[in-house]
Amino acid sequence: MELSRILERVEGSRSAMASDISGIIRIPAIGPSNGGTGELARADHVQSLLKGFDSVERYDTPDRFHPDVIRPNIVAKRNGSGKGTVWIVSHLDTVPPGDLDKWVSPPFEPRAEGGRVYGLGAEDNGQAIISSIYAAKAIPPGRLSGRSMGLAIVADEETTSAMGVEHLLKQGCFTEDDFIIVPDWGTEGGTMIEVAEKHLLWVKFTIKGRQTHGSVPHKGINALRVGTDFLSDLMDRLDKAYGDEDPYFRPPGSTLEPTRASPTVENVNTIPGIYEFWMDCRIIPSQDPDEILGLMRSVAAEHSERTGAEISAEVEQKTLAGAPSATDTEEFAVFLEAVRSVAEGDVETVGVGGGTCANFFRLRGLNAYVWQFGGGSLHQPNEYVEIDNIVKDAKVYATMFYRLCV
Ligand SMILES: [Zn+2]
Repeated sequence: MELSRILERVEGSRSAMASDISGIIRIPAIGPSNGGTGELARADHVQSLLKGFDSVERYDTPDRFHPDVIRPNIVAKRNGSGKGTVWIVSHLDTVPPGDLDKWVSPPFEPRAEGGRVYGLGAEDNGQAIISSIYAAKAIPPGRLSGRSMGLAIVADEETTSAMGVEHLLKQGCFTEDDFIIVPDWGTEGGTMIEVAEKHLLWVKFTIKGRQTHGSVPHKGINALRVGTDFLSDLMDRLDKAYGDEDPYFRPPGSTLEPTRASPTVENVNTIPGIYEFWMDCRIIPSQDPDEILGLMRSVAAEHSERTGAEISAEVEQKTLAGAPSATDTEEFAVFLEAVRSVAEGDVETVGVGGGTCANFFRLRGLNAYVWQFGGGSLHQPNEYVEIDNIVKDAKVYATMFYRLCV
């Protein structure tokens, strides 16, 4: 069968895609540490949509923190004669719906309107589940003479990934010969392919001074005054030391931002004895998170020495970024060409500050690429997916399967 015929099949699946994504939205899939009951019911339903594969396997695992909840992972494959598998990795779980009053229609009741389907998880990551299933469906039956074709539909992306993609990696589901697409981020015109991510570092700073009456500040140590002085000096010095840019990334430099702060005292006339603030740092790969932490701690020691307050800096989360995925391979060229055929503008490869499943592959030396048509409504009330975006995504994946697997 010719590629044009395969793409017509995808185009002809529009209404089936809209109905299948609605079926997914109706089944909540919020992880237990986000207050939900997990993804099991949604996984069983999604598995029922998988037709024509040589194998459909489950890699379910009990939740580490809520062992009564099973976290499901689906791996569907059509075997090819060639080495390696072309994968599309999507995730089942969603974030919680947030403030229900902000939803025009209930988050678990799909609403079709103006070429869109609204509902929690429609874009993140229902779009990828449906587009990958329909891309695979469009490939005619029979022996694949190229690489194998695989869909991995995982749990736990919105929290730790330990019981999702990490679990599959530990079970040996992926190899160095694989080509992996993770459709979990995208721009409106489908013009950016994410091939790298920044290191992530969250730091909590605690300033312990001495509380006293507002009229006699010299008898105490004002933790808020020490903390704000320290923070302002720290930001200056971090900017000077880590101002380098890597033009590959959007934005190009590291972002080292104070985000959260604790309340101090309830009343105006007390000198606060304790103050805490946090920083969210997204660090370009050429810079070392431990070195940045070292500078934070040495500035803290100086301010501590000068003021008599105790200042500590503790790591709350640190995730190193894997090496950027290769863009000089035959598979990438095929993928890029497929993206170009639908993208609305010039296609670029970029690095971003956010974190996706792709980093878990990169940390193990595997190449993974993040791409889809983005709508920009994810993690927001009234999340929606454009059916057109599912169709365009599916055409790219079907083209990729056709060229690399068939
Ligand atoms: Zn997602």
